[in-house]
This record gives sequence, C-alpha cells and structure tokens, in this order.
Amino acid sequence: MPLFADIVLPLAQPSYTFAIPDGMELTAGCAVAVQFGARKFYTGIVWCVHDRKPDFKRIKPIHRLLGPRPLVGSAQRALWEWIASYYMCSLGEVMRAALPSLMKPSADSPEHFADEEFHPRTETYFTLAAELCNEERLHELFEKLSRRAPKQYEALLEIAAASNGGGAPGGEVARRLLTADRTVLHALERKGCIIATEHERTTERGMAEFRLPELSGHQRAALDTLREEFKAGKTTALLHGVTSSGKTEIYIHLIAEVLARGGDVLLLVPEIALTAQLIERMERIFGSRVTPYHSRLTDLRRSENYLRLDRSEGGEFVVGVRSSIFLPLKRLQLIIVDEEHDASYKQSEPAPRYHARDCAVMMARLVGCRTLLGSATPSLETWVNARSGKYGQAVLRERYGDARPPRVVISDTLRAARRGERYAHFNKLLLDRLGEVLDRGEQAILFQNRRGFAPYVACTECGWTARCPQCNVTLTYHRAGERLVCHYCGHTGSVPAKCPSCKVTDVVPMGFGTEKIEEEIVRIFPEARVARLDRDTVTSERAFNAIVADFARRKTDILVGTQMITKGFDFEGVALVGVLNADNLLNNPDFRAAERAFQLLTQVAGRAGRRAVEGEVVIQSAEPGHPVLRQVVEGDYEAMAREQLAERQSFFYPPYARITTLTLRHRDPQLLRRGAVFLADRLRARFGKRLLGPMAPPVDRIRGEYLVGLLLKVESGASSVRARELLAVELKEFAAHPEYRYIVVIPNVDPQ
Ligand code: ADP
Ligand code: ZN
Ligand code: ZN
Repeated sequence: MPLFADIVLPLAQPSYTFAIPDGMELTAGCAVAVQFGARKFYTGIVWCVHDRKPDFKRIKPIHRLLGPRPLVGSAQRALWEWIASYYMCSLGEVMRAALPSLMKPSADSPEHFADEEFHPRTETYFTLAAELCNEERLHELFEKLSRRAPKQYEALLEIAAASNGGGAPGGEVARRLLTADRTVLHALERKGCIIATEHERTTERGMAEFRLPELSGHQRAALDTLREEFKAGKTTALLHGVTSSGKTEIYIHLIAEVLARGGDVLLLVPEIALTAQLIERMERIFGSRVTPYHSRLTDLRRSENYLRLDRSEGGEFVVGVRSSIFLPLKRLQLIIVDEEHDASYKQSEPAPRYHARDCAVMMARLVGCRTLLGSATPSLETWVNARSGKYGQAVLRERYGDARPPRVVISDTLRAARRGERYAHFNKLLLDRLGEVLDRGEQAILFQNRRGFAPYVACTECGWTARCPQCNVTLTYHRAGERLVCHYCGHTGSVPAKCPSCKVTDVVPMGFGTEKIEEEIVRIFPEARVARLDRDTVTSERAFNAIVADFARRKTDILVGTQMITKGFDFEGVALVGVLNADNLLNNPDFRAAERAFQLLTQVAGRAGRRAVEGEVVIQSAEPGHPVLRQVVEGDYEAMAREQLAERQSFFYPPYARITTLTLRHRDPQLLRRGAVFLADRLRARFGKRLLGPMAPPVDRIRGEYLVGLLLKVESGASSVRARELLAVELKEFAAHPEYRYIVVIPNVDPQ
C-alpha cells in the first residue's frame, strides 16, 4: 500500500501531500475529507498516491474517505490538468468550477462531511409477487379485493398496469409514481401481494427509437458532409449555417445516432436565455434521456445528476452550459457547441478562466470523441481553422422551408434628426414600421444593449456626472426606485436633487437603456402590450419563463430587451426587429468590436420572420455607411471575416497571435505602478516587443482597488507551452518579491 497521497483542495494552491491511514484504500480521483490549516476541513480529490516522503515535518493523515468510488475519472483528470496548465491556474481552482457545490464543502469540523452526498439517492420500488404473475391468480385476487378492499384493489391495479400489465414477471414501478398511500401499500406488502425493494434510482430511459425530423435536401447534404469529415479523421468540425437554417435539426440526427450506439452526447449552450427553449425542444424528441445542467438547478439536483452520470452505462444526453464540460460522461462520443462564437463560453471571473468551446475541442483529442461547433456567425478563430482544413466544415446557406432572410435596412439617426423625423429615441421609419406591425397583429422585438433607464446622469450646466465611489465608472440610472447603480460592484445611491458640483441646476438622465425605451414605446403606442426582458426584469427563472411564454402566446406585442433576446429565440409571430442604436456596438474599444457587432446584429436580425411572415429589421445608426452595417445588410459573413482578418493580421491580434492579459491589482496606486513597471521590464527582457504595457484598462478602479494591465501577444506558430512556462517563472518570482508580493496578478489566457 502506498503511504502518501497528493490531494487537490478547492483553493488557489498547489496540491498537498497527506498520509494515508492504515487500511484506507485510495486511488486517483477519490474524494476525501482532510484537515488543512489549524481548523479548516475541506473536501479534496486524490490526485496521485505514492511513497515519496515529503520534506515537511508534520504530515497530516487523511481524515476520511468520501464515497464508495472515485469521483473524478481519468478523462476528467486529464481535462483538469490541461485547463490548469493552459489557463495558468491551480487544479484546486479547476475543482471549484468542476464539481457541484454539495460535493466540495469546507467546514470547521469534520462532522459536516456527510458521506451521503457521494452516494446516489435510493428509492423504493414495487413488483408483483411471483405467484401473481399467473393471470388466473391475479384475477382471483382482483375480484376479492375489489369487494373487500377497494383501495388496495386500486393500488394493485396500478402496480400491475405499470409492471407490464401483470403478465410478465419482474416489472418494477417506483413508489413516487404511485398514487396509493403508505398504509395501503403496507397492507398489500404484508399479504405478500407485492414486494418492495430499495435501490438506486434508475432513470426511465424509454425507447431508443426517436422520431426525428425529416431533413431537407440541403440539411441532408450538410449532415453527410459532417459524417464524412468525422470519418476522415477530423476530430472537430464547424457547421456554419445561417440563422433558421435548421442547425438544430442536424444536431438531432447526430445525437440520435450516438445514443442508439449507447454513447454519450454533450450539447453545450450559452448561458441563460435560450437554454430553457432548447431543452424543451430536445425533450420533445429525446424525452427523459435529456439531462439539463445549468446554474438554475438546485445544488442537490446538480450533485444528483453528477452521480447518476458517473454510474451510467451510457446513452446519456446532457444539455448544459459551460461547466457541463466537467461532467463524468464515461462514453462521450460527441460534443456539440451551439452558438460557438458566444462569449459566455469563456469564464472571465473567477479562475479557472477557461473557454468551454476550446475545452471541447481539446476533449476531442483527450478522449477521442468528436466535437461539432455550430454557428451562423462563427468566431474568426474557428472560421480560420475550418478554412485551413484543420477542422471539418459544412455550410448551410438557406433558411429552412419558405422562411426568407429578413430585409435589413439602416436608418440614419442624424439625418432623421435634421429632418425633424425623430421622436424620443426612434426614427420615423422605425415608428412607421412598428405601427404597421401592430395594425397587422404581428409582433416586434426592440433591442437596446444597455439595461436601466439611462446610462448615466449628468449636470447640463457644468458636465458633472455621478460616478461610483468604488469604481472608475459612471453610475447607471434606474427609473424604478430612482436609484443610481454601479454595474461593476453593485453600489447603489440616490439621485442628487441639485448638481453637487455647481449647485446650479438639476442633474438629468443622459443616453438611454431598455427601461427608457419601454417607457417611450408605451407612451407612443398606448394600446400596445409591451414587455421588457433584461437582467432587471428577469429576477428568476420563473420571471423569465413568464415573459417569454406571454410573448410566445402573443399576449405581448412588443418585447424590449438586451442581449438576452438575441440568442436562439424562435417566435413565429415576429415580423419586425428594431435596433435602437448600433453605434455603441461599433465603437467599442476592443479588437473584436466589429466581429461582435456583426454577430450580434446578425443574431438579432435572425429573430425576424422565422416562418411565413416576411421579416424586416431596422437598425438605427449615426454612421449608416459603416462597413460592418453594410455587411449585416448583405448578410455577408465572408466579407466581414476577410476585412477583419486583414486588420487582425496587420495589428497582430488573434487568430494570428495568442493573447494573455495580466491584470495587476492593489489599493496603493503608486506601489501598483512601480510593480507593474518592474514586471513589464522583466517580461520584456524575455518576450521583447511581444509585451505591451503597463496600460490602464477601460475601468481602472473596481471596489476601491486600482488596476493596471499588461498584454502579451505571442505569434500563433510559436510554442505556447514554452511561452506559458516562461511567464509562469516570472510570475512566481514576482509573487515572492519583497516589495511587490502583495500585488495580485491575474493572468487571463485568450481573453474574450
Ligand atoms: P437554427 O438552429 O439554424 O437557427 P433551427 O434548427 O432553429 O435553425 O430551425 C429554424 C426553424 O425551422 C425551427 O422552427 C425548426 O423547427 C424549423 N425546421 C428546420 N429544419 C426543419 C426540418 N427539417 N423539419 C421541420 N422543421 C424544420
Ligand atoms: Zn462600483
Ligand atoms: Zn453642475
């Protein structure tokens, strides 16, 4: 028996060595409770067992083994290790993202570690007693009971029906599916009519025959192409299909194939909004095979799912958000990343700052599964990989059925203002279209990428603006409750009656958000039924579902919303989509601004006219000639891609370079500045011109701490492993520097 185990704790620390007590049988991946520090107990994951005595003196023994078998399998451990190394974080930080919270408690005493969290739940099942499998006997009993004990008769009928009509032996039915109460079931059990057993919950898998949608010719061709690409050995492929082309239908066919073979499938979807809709759509076809996994499940539900999947014999289908990449799918054969360009696949805070799409691509190599990336507007990184032949590729250029692409028009806000054709934040064109849509009884979506009433309040006299005392940003004005809210730290304040600076005039709301648009639209179209979908109205899943359901049932005419409405929404009645202001998307100071604006506007536009109704999209902008807007109007992804790639190449940005940002954080701005210059010099000595900075990030103070950034750009062809190693060495030295060691340094690899 090995004497020691290296254990990963859910902390930003390397793994620690503990002694294995006599008789405790451990293998890699097992969960254990250990004491760390003077009083704290944590769940840890055994990473390896060995006989190398560490050189510190007091080696603590492992307190307890949790659960009957390893919790983290070898494929998962390989993924954890890749993430820790690639994204420059500890295995413990990966553990925090990977395991459901009930499985990683920390506590002051060991009693808090309930072993049962690591055992799947059991429940009671009933079967008919063996002698009742004779039909004659069963009928006799039925007759007797129906006269003397009608409740028992009904219960027995229920069990007999659920267990194959009574004829075949062995049919089981779960207690929770029966309506009979406890005393009745007890009586039947005492008489020896039924037998109760207690065992792990089995899922009702249902059949392996699924009713699949019939594919159109184009869809079939795309499906065949994908199959060929995979067969030819491509581990990753891109399905590039315009919105509403039926990418989901193609996924369904691929998923059914894998499930029929007994393999597992993971379908990754972006955060929140569309998950509910998509899960429902999948359940209509795959029934109880679908296991949803997202942040709105309860903690208990999540660990139940985790344990069930861990013990599954295969044929599992998980639909989940980015963290589902960590689930223990033992027979994983296919990962689909829907809307692969979506930025929510990247976790930016806290560590691990991983990108689930890139992990999915990596998983294909680690476990030999296939990864399919789907999008109408692929990220440029993915598109370049597909064009170079590194990934396989299939393209869908037409919408499904008679749905035509929406007609996109750009409406010039400055020109409208000059002609007196602007009312509130609407050009006359958009209002005219809205009026027509309402007259015809159709629906409209209005998109504004800011929530709240107005981005900020300002004094018209001296220009004073209300800013967050903790962060270097303006506060957002929310009409409800007349509050000023910091969208970075949550600080809330009230609106000053007079300008605090010049004390001359009132401060007034400037700019506009969704709340303001909703108010204006209600004023302009008092008879229209208007709803708003943004983080302020979506306070819970129920609130979200209610708003969406009302819109789907056409109880609402106009839906005003933020990014939330851009993704995956599929409503038949939407004939018009209005974008209130494209300019703040186009003018973002980010190298991805144009790509993102194209993606977002194309996605929003895709919400219009998904069925027979011809859709129209009106985009308001002060720069109607902007090339990205032209590309959106023409639906010309390639033109956008080429233009942006040329720019990326000349300014040396992804996909031609790999970027890592370092954010340094400290309360003392002088110390921070000196530390940043010091670190930048050290890195420059190693990386030369590839290191940029120190520079001030867009928001240079958050929660009272100052921030400074460094940027490392390494050419894509160069060894990224080597670059990370060099960087890690420098960061380690910096963390031990006598003056600067209290400066927090946060590496972000491939920031989005
Ligand atoms: P995408 O995911 O590419 O945006 P969807 O898969 O959501 O497109 O398809 C758009 C609409 O067309 C959906 O309502 C879908 O049900 C319908 N559709 C697409 N392909 C088919 C098909 N082969 N049979 C029936 N309906 C289809
Ligand atoms: Zn703040
Ligand atoms: Zn003022």
